[in-house]
Amino acid sequence: MTQPFLPFSKPTIDEATIAAVADVLRSGWITSGPKVQAFETMLSEYFGGRPVRTFNSGTCTMEIALRVAGIGPGDEVITTPISWVATANVIIEVGATPVFADIDPVTHNIDLDQVEAAITPRTKAIIPVYLSGLPIDMDRLYALAAKHNLRIVEDAAQAIGSSWKGKRIGTFGDLVSFSFQANKNVTTSEGGCLVLNNADETRLAEKYRLQGVTRNGFDGIDVDVLGGKFNMTDIAATIGLGQFARIEAITAKRRALAKHYFAAFGTGFEARSGAQLPVADFEHSNWHMFQIVLPQRITRADFMEKMMAKNIGIGYHYPAIHLFTLYRERGFKEGMFPIAERVGRRIVTLPMFTAMTENDVERAVDAVKSVLQ
Ligand SMILES: *Cc1c(COP(=O)(O)O)cnc(C)c1O
Repeated sequence: MTQPFLPFSKPTIDEATIAAVADVLRSGWITSGPKVQAFETMLSEYFGGRPVRTFNSGTCTMEIALRVAGIGPGDEVITTPISWVATANVIIEVGATPVFADIDPVTHNIDLDQVEAAITPRTKAIIPVYLSGLPIDMDRLYALAAKHNLRIVEDAAQAIGSSWKGKRIGTFGDLVSFSFQANKNVTTSEGGCLVLNNADETRLAEKYRLQGVTRNGFDGIDVDVLGGKFNMTDIAATIGLGQFARIEAITAKRRALAKHYFAAFGTGFEARSGAQLPVADFEHSNWHMFQIVLPQRITRADFMEKMMAKNIGIGYHYPAIHLFTLYRERGFKEGMFPIAERVGRRIVTLPMFTAMTENDVERAVDAVKSVLQ
């Protein structure tokens, strides 16, 4: 008997949240309003009292963070080639130049030695990404930023609920951007939020969020910067409020599932199969994804097809950004970032979502073992 399809990711929205969204839909106010305000207040508390603003995607949150940091034409921004392409696209979007630094072969996050080597007099910022929710060495990152006078725009899209040495990601550091896209650990269907440093930055972020508008009470409005249309709706904020009520349980459940993955693979799996398991971290990571790097003897496409035949969904996060046509046209080519290129061809994402059971984990692991045999 074939078993039901096991997706690699699936959101869980509880009935209380669905009822709260229905209330918003009936209320007569469905765009940005009291729910967005309540969500931002809740997020600010969650991030240790720092100012937080919400937006309608993680991508525009990153773009606005770069604008708030004053990044633009002539500036270089260093980031990782192994991320969702949004991470690098936003650098181009604000008119700056993306510079890549190769990744660490164990964590698959940006290698800070490579970052340091890539710094030039034009470097203005670094965008670190915490792939699958595993942070980089945050002490070293901020020491590097201080030494070279650089802004940090953290692409913490996957790291909601992650921490560094007991401190939650977002409660410290420079500008920290999160995504609430449907596959992230907590979702608003689409959305994002930015943790800022002070009232000036917050006001600027609000302007970029809505056409550059400043309101002068009943005197009307003025527009003094070029903003866009990036505000979150009360519908989305209501989903977010419902999700955050469960965030500790969500993170705990994912860590437990990850532990179960390691137990199911068992010791010796890497040696036997030639595949690479993720870093076994149960302290810092929120386990946004459980990713393995495939051995040479099977192609990713072949692996994905064989897993699909067993009714198991596999994700591909991510192909190396610098090898996309848009980036090749900007001068990047094969051979520039060899670790990212190897990992980018062979990394796959196994199923991981809050509603998953230990039995699902075992089914996924059995399938991987049989496909890699
Ligand atoms: C999801 C994600 C984004 C983009 O977020 P959206 O909400 O989809 O715009 C950016 N960077 C990383 C690392 C992500 O995982």
